[in-house]
Amino acid sequence: MGLLSEGSPLSWEETKKLADHVRKHGVIQFINLYKRLRDRQGDILKWGDEVEYIMVKFDHENKTAKVSLRASEVLNTLNQKEKDDPTGVKSLWRPEYAAYMIEGTPGKPYGGMLAHFNVVEANMKYRREEAQQLMKKNEVVMTLTNFPRLGAPGFTDPPTKPTPHEGASRSLFFPDDAIYDGHPRFATLTRNIRERRGSKVAINLPIYRDKNTPQPFVEDLNQYGGDAQSASAALPDHVYMDAMGFGMGCCCLQLTFQACNIDEARRLYDQLTPLCPIMLALTAAAPVFRGLVTDVDARWNVISGSVDCRTEEERGLKPLKDNKFVIPKSRYDSISSYLSPLGEKLNDIPVLHDGAIYQQLRDAGIDHLLAQHVAHLFIRDTVSLFSEKVHQDDEEDTDHFENIQSTNWQTMRFKPPPPNSPIGWRVEFRPCEVQITDFENAAIVCFVVLLTRVILSYQLNFLIPISLVDENMKRAQKNGAVTKEKFWFRKNITTCVSPPAATSCCKISDDCTFYTQFTIDEIINGKAGEFPGLVPLINSYLSGMDVDADTHCTVQQYLKLIQRRASGELLTTAGWVRDFVRAHPDYRQDSVVSERINYDLLWRIHGIQTGEVQCPELLGTNAQSKTREDIPSAMRKDFPGASCSE
Ligand code: GLU
Ligand code: MG
Repeated sequence: MGLLSEGSPLSWEETKKLADHVRKHGVIQFINLYKRLRDRQGDILKWGDEVEYIMVKFDHENKTAKVSLRASEVLNTLNQKEKDDPTGVKSLWRPEYAAYMIEGTPGKPYGGMLAHFNVVEANMKYRREEAQQLMKKNEVVMTLTNFPRLGAPGFTDPPTKPTPHEGASRSLFFPDDAIYDGHPRFATLTRNIRERRGSKVAINLPIYRDKNTPQPFVEDLNQYGGDAQSASAALPDHVYMDAMGFGMGCCCLQLTFQACNIDEARRLYDQLTPLCPIMLALTAAAPVFRGLVTDVDARWNVISGSVDCRTEEERGLKPLKDNKFVIPKSRYDSISSYLSPLGEKLNDIPVLHDGAIYQQLRDAGIDHLLAQHVAHLFIRDTVSLFSEKVHQDDEEDTDHFENIQSTNWQTMRFKPPPPNSPIGWRVEFRPCEVQITDFENAAIVCFVVLLTRVILSYQLNFLIPISLVDENMKRAQKNGAVTKEKFWFRKNITTCVSPPAATSCCKISDDCTFYTQFTIDEIINGKAGEFPGLVPLINSYLSGMDVDADTHCTVQQYLKLIQRRASGELLTTAGWVRDFVRAHPDYRQDSVVSERINYDLLWRIHGIQTGEVQCPELLGTNAQSKTREDIPSAMRKDFPGASCSE
């Protein structure tokens, strides 16, 4: 989830006093880094995935499933292997926000060979098995975006209690004991976000109104130790949540790409931006929160609210007095501006930024778009600072820059090369929800990676006004968005150099608008005469290549899954979870996911993941692709777009 500094965290009062210090040195550090690395060229495509896992403990006698709070114990063992053999391990493991979460990445990044798509799923399997081996009896590592009864009474193993009147979260539902305790960063962020905001975070998701759901739906919060503050923060007909853990305790699937230089990184950052809401809707996997069925399908707004450290002044509820800005978005939100020249005129929402920092960056020779981006990130205060890191060498260190950068959790992240490393300019793609099986996760990863190659090779342009991307983000989270909503998308995605396969009806010379509203089916699979479709574009790109039979077969299965999810022929995880709950014999049509439903749901998910239970609604038939551990030398060929074309 971000930078793990060594040492002792400062109190919020101390941290607050140093906010300007961190900003000042963070900007200088960025400028120094930029000057050193702006001309860095010739890096090759490298990419990797990040999967976040939860650990679940089943009790088959009492038919319960709880989150297991053993992450630090498990990580100790996993990390020991890396310490013993830093370059030889096949996986890397990192802590995440919650004490029941772990995060795994491949040991080495993948490169520009098509044949790498054969090993992605095998590596995911390897990681899952590696972690699973450390589980105790009845404990299972799962890839599920949200534990359905997170924050419902008794949801942890061992049992823990929330502490509404003390500690970091002060939540009525989410105990501090469920925050990862192997590093102080997570509890510190929790406390500081709450203290900075001046109250607990407040997340309200519309309840899914079923036949027997009370109308209005109003919970008695007194039973959890609620007070006047929680009573006024909780909205009627909503599921109320009051802790960082409800959001940052969710799991996602992220991708990072290394670009060949800074310009390509800016282009990729921009071109992937309109894909964020589309991929969020397509991967939606989180319809149940705190044991209640909601009317949303995805985690996004929950995390956004869970780290919303803006004060009342910054949220526009009170006139500005102690704060500098009214800030329209949370630290966890969609991006507010494009970074490439092509995107400049589509930056149609105000990009709130610090004027003095912007000027400082401009004076250092940084162009308008990048200066605006950094000055936008730097409207935020640090919310976690370690005493050992306060004083730094701005020529060498980048911790203050990283401090602000890594607590701006946006849909896309633009990442400068780390100091003194072989790594180049990178972008991170952050919207996707994690799926139940490695097959699905590998499919999503391969689809997005292939799309980036098509974008670069065909020089496509997906940009739409950024305000419409924001509108799409709202639509993407709705119940059933994948088939029910339409999304703003660009009609004419070709540029003057794109090949005919990419052409759609609207030519630049035609008198028509460049964007329109499509269903996800139309975006992914195409609409006759109007839009070629992203999968057909990928197929046309692949057809120009000499693809070996294994890779072809793997990639086609992945693309098929994406296509069938987009058309609605297969359900999203969210849709499937909803159906499961509603069809459960214990479900009383009252939106409540009981312990028993939760147990049966998670056990079924486990069965689907292992392949013991078939789930054609979610996966179709034959969902296990043929994957490899290694790539034979005959398959070691780079694909177009893997190295710099300019
Ligand atoms: N778990 C967070 C999510 O679901 C992301 C945390 C991170 O940045 O690694 O989006
Ligand atoms: Mg993470």
